[in-house]
This record gives sequence, structure tokens and C-alpha cells, in this order.
Amino acid sequence: MTNPELKSSAPFDRATLEALLTKRFFYAPSFEIYGGVAGLYDFGPTGNALLQNLIQYWRQHFVIEENMLEVDCSIMTPGDVLKTSGHVDKFTDYMCRDTLDPKTVFRADHLIEAVLEARLKGDELARSQALNSKVEALNVDESDADKKKKKKNKAKSKTKVEAKRLDDSVVAEYKNILAQIDNFDCDALAEIIKKYEITNPETGNPVSTPAPFNLMFESSIGPSGQLKSYLRPETAQGQFLNFPRLLEFNNNKLPFASAMVGRAFRNEISPRSGLLRVREFTMAEVEHYVDPEKKDHPRFNEVAGIELPFLSSSVQASGSTEVTHSTIGHAVSSGLVANQTLGYFIGRIYMYLTAVGIDPKRLRFRQHMANEMAHYACDCWDAEIQTSYGWIECVGCADRSAYDLTVHSKRTKQDLCVSENLLEPRVYEKWVHEINMKKFGPHFKKDAKVVTEFLEQRTECELEDIAKELNGPSGKAVINVDGREFELDTSLVQINKATIKEHVRKYTPNVIEPSFGLGRILYSLLEHSYYVRKEDEQRGVLGFCPLVAPFKCLVLPLSGQADFAGPLLEIARNLRKLGVPARVDDSASASIGRRYARNDELGTPFAITVDFQTLEDNSVTLRERDSTKQIRATRDEIIDLVKQLVEGSTSWENVLEKYPLVNSESE
Ligand code: AMP
Repeated sequence: MTNPELKSSAPFDRATLEALLTKRFFYAPSFEIYGGVAGLYDFGPTGNALLQNLIQYWRQHFVIEENMLEVDCSIMTPGDVLKTSGHVDKFTDYMCRDTLDPKTVFRADHLIEAVLEARLKGDELARSQALNSKVEALNVDESDADKKKKKKNKAKSKTKVEAKRLDDSVVAEYKNILAQIDNFDCDALAEIIKKYEITNPETGNPVSTPAPFNLMFESSIGPSGQLKSYLRPETAQGQFLNFPRLLEFNNNKLPFASAMVGRAFRNEISPRSGLLRVREFTMAEVEHYVDPEKKDHPRFNEVAGIELPFLSSSVQASGSTEVTHSTIGHAVSSGLVANQTLGYFIGRIYMYLTAVGIDPKRLRFRQHMANEMAHYACDCWDAEIQTSYGWIECVGCADRSAYDLTVHSKRTKQDLCVSENLLEPRVYEKWVHEINMKKFGPHFKKDAKVVTEFLEQRTECELEDIAKELNGPSGKAVINVDGREFELDTSLVQINKATIKEHVRKYTPNVIEPSFGLGRILYSLLEHSYYVRKEDEQRGVLGFCPLVAPFKCLVLPLSGQADFAGPLLEIARNLRKLGVPARVDDSASASIGRRYARNDELGTPFAITVDFQTLEDNSVTLRERDSTKQIRATRDEIIDLVKQLVEGSTSWENVLEKYPLVNSESE
């Protein structure tokens, strides 16, 4: 809807956007008057309304349209659960310290990234300075205004960039490291820090070797404090633990999905970049349970034709960040994306993000690299959004295989499987062992249990190998259980191939998990929606679509005339009754143009103005934010139009076809 002719071409200035967000209370540091705490933020009325609208549409798009089972589980989680899930041992980032000032800590990969990026910028600067000096030598003069502008921009830049020429080969090495920065483990990060002499960028002090740092906030439950617990780092575990109830609720049928929106907590080493890396944030997660043998999706054809930019792990491994454009259909059929269900959710994620206003040109899907991917996952893609902070992971979409349900089932001895009654019995051959209990127990005595468990846990191939020995000429086989050897013979155990006829198929479902960080999406949306008009570069506009705009309609009087108050409040009340959040701006001190402008800062898409003609014929004007065009019609007609515009059942273009424009002289 934005008229490009009205938009200023001035480059995006984050500081101005941030000033707007603070002034209009989108969000602010929590506990600010006590000095604040890094990584904790409170949302104000505008930011909170925006967040709630993102959540509401997420529920519509995923929970309702996909018929998911939404739950709400406890945040406080016993340590045992998170030990089993792997979080206690593996939910870590790598941290290093300034060796001369140990209170200054860095996340090792971020430190490397910042230093190498600054060096690359310094190299670019040095190259362009060399070029400029050649141009100057040709006597091309810069205007004073240009010089001043350059000086100002230089002063504003916070990154310490030193103009320094690098060898071409070093530039290539740096770029290669940056392209796969998420793929390095602790040792690899340590090696890079050493090899490239990475130091504290502020002081130049050396930094320590990186070490793992667990990101979970630890707590304890109960007055004795004996039950160790953590604030959950994701909403997923609560969903997995309720799997049997959810399966029963779903009449024991697969596939189905559970979903949850809620807070998650991560003790980030160095929270930064505003809402992008915080210690408490809202997540929205889907756990889609699927038969591992049937990962096709019945609605795949709805997304198969969508073309997306994919950044594969192999391209990153080659040191490049070049995306390939492909339809989701082709990405799945060519094996780039592991299966249809994963591809389906990638498509749905794209649809959600673009519907709320993320610019599709600044969105890509990046595949996790081997080291980066959780050990249990078989494929994982992040929806990354480009902001002034670079490409940011906003949604993760992973095939978690059967990992979570398997480990929780093993730990709790609870059945987290699906039993499927087969119409035709399944007949197949299988190696089975049969223990002669009369002899086995007395023979192995206290070791009988471990030997039995060892045999039970063997794969088909392993059993076959033991059987070959046992059924050979010696009639004996030696097995190694945790470093101890035991001899089996055919009088103790028999291992043979048997024909199995199964009427029920039992399996652990696989889980496909789209996991959204709503704060990151919200911030990216703010950047993508923000622009300034040519005519008023001092004030910003947030071009939110009606679906997410915190306030849908502004209602205001042309002036402070007392007669305007009645119709004004009535219009606002009627809009609210229809479920349209309306905001009244009747401050008489500001001109109407200023009041439009300051509500443009809130991203309010429509404005109804009560003026002198309203008092005569009950008509009002309706202004659309991005085009700044206005039409006039009766109060009731305009209220109805606003409702339709907000619901999306009509568009501003349709409205303009039906109603003539009126002069926007009031602006
Ligand atoms: P993960 O479980 O690490 O894949 O995270 C899932 C999603 O949560 C990510 O895609 C981000 O959008 C979001 N997220 C993770 N960590 C943070 C954080 N520290 N601050 C804000 N959002 C986060």
C-alpha cells in the first residue's frame, strides 16, 4: 500500500528506530529504575499488543488451521527430566574470559565473528581509501555537505574499525570461518582464537581458552530444596511427557501435533542486540508426531510450489553463503530437505512470516551443519531473517527423529510408543534368543541380569554374529559386556531365526518440530516495517499490516471544538464493540498533521476524522496510513469499511475504486 514516491531513500538508521520504540513504549529494559538487568525486557502497551497479535495469528495459522492440540505445561522442570533430555550435559555455549579482567566474558563464537568482521571491514575501508586517494588525485572535489555527512556517520559508528589491508588469502580464510561459524566445537574455536590472535576488541587483552557454559537457570523445588530443577529452556519437554495422554485424546491416531506458546529461559553469556538475544522470551513450538515410515504429508501439495531461498549445509561447508532458489517440492524430491513433513512445515513457516509482514526478500532457510545439528536430529533448517544485525535465526525447524520419546521412555520405563492394529498381519523373519532359565540363572548367578539385558539390547546384525559362533562347531560364543567376557553355549541360550507374525505394529513416533522465537520475529518485523517519509524525515512510520498492528484505527477530531467529542467517542466505542482496537487522539494542543504523524509511529493503519461536516451530515473521513489518501462517507459506512479492512475481506485499493478521494488539506 505504501506509495514509493512518498518514501524517503535515506538509509535505515537503527538509532532512530530505537528512539521511536522507547518513546512509544514498545519495550524497555525490565527493572530499569533499579539499573536494569541485561537480557530482560518489559513490553509496553504497543509492543505487547503487537506480540499478542503475532501469537493470535500463530494460533490461527498453526493450532486452528492444522487442528493441533494446544497445551500449557509447567515452566519449572525437575532436573531429572532435563538430564534425560540431554540439556544438563549438552545445552551449552562456549565462553571465554579476558585474562586480565576475568569479569569480562565473551561467547567465543560471537567474539570471533565480531573481530573477524571488523577486520574485514577494516580491509574494505583500506581498499576504498586507496581508491579514494586515486580519485582525489584526479581532482574530483567533494562538497562541504558531503564531507560533513561522512564525518558525522563516522562519529556515529560504534564498531571499532581500523583501516588495515589484509592479504587476499587471509580475507578468504576469514570469510570461510564466518560462513561456518555455527559449526565449530570447543576445540575448533580455541584453535581459531589462537591462530588468528583474537583478543578483547575493547582492550586488546588476550582471552582464555573457551569452555562450555550451561545456559539453564538452576533452581530447587520445595522447602528442603532437595529437588533440583531448572526454568525450562524450551517448551518442548512438557509436550513430550504428555504424549500418551495426547495420543489417547487423539483416539490413538497418528499423525497429530501438539503446540504450546509460553516463556522460556536461557542464561545467555552475553545478551545483546535488544530483543534478539535475551534471557527470557516467548516461544511458540509445535511437536508433530509422525510414523517414521510415513513422513509424507497429506497437504504437501499446498506448499510444494512455493519457491524459497535455501542455504544448504554443503554450500556453507564450502565457505559460501550463496542461496539456491528452489520450490519446496523440488527441495524435497532432490533430497535437500529430508522429507515432505519437514518441507510442509518450512512452507507453513514461510507463509506465517510473510503474512505478518516479514519482507520475503530478507528471509532465507539455512540448513544446520553437521556439528551444529543436535546429535539426534536428522535434518534441521532455520528460517533466518535479515536485519541491521545481520541474518538472525528466528524459527528452527528440525526432524528430531524418535530421540525424545525414546530417552524419556527408557528413563521412566513408561510406554511412549504407538500400537497400530494391522489389517493384514505382518510376517517377517527375525533373530531371536531363547534363554534356558533353569541353567542360565545358576550358571551366571548375579551376572544373569546384565547378560540378559545385553542380549535383549542387541541389534539384528549383532544377534546374527553371535548366532554364527554359537551355532558353529564349538557350540560356544564369547560376548563382551562392559569390558567383561562371558561364555555362552547352546545349553544356556539358543539364537535362531524365527518367523514372526505380528498383528500389532509397535513403534516410537518421530517428531518434526517448528520452534518460533516470537521476540526475534517481532524485532525483525519492526525493522522491516519501519520507514520515513520524504516530506518528514524526522518522524518514522511503522507500516504494519492490519493483521498485527497494535491499534487498528485512530479516531480523532479535526480540532478541539467541544461538539466533536460526542461523535468521536461513539465511533471509538462502536469500533471496539466490533472487536477493532481503536485509539482516540483528542489532544487539542497538536495540529491534526502532527497527530496523524505520531500515530503513524504506532503503525496504526487507518484514521477516522470527525470534522465540521460531520456535524452537518454525519459523514467522516477515513485516512490510510501508507498512501495518506482519504475518502469520505457516513459514519456507519466507514466503521463497516474499517472492520472489513481489518479482517482482510476488502483492501484499500478496492475502497478507492468505490469512493472518491477527498482533499487531505487537514494534513
Ligand atoms: P533453539 O531451541 O535454540 O533452536 O531456539 C528456538 C528459537 O528460539 C530460535 O529460533 C530463536 O527464535 C529463539 N531464541 C533462542 N534463543 C533466544 C534468545 N536468547 N533470545 C531470543 N530468542 C531466542
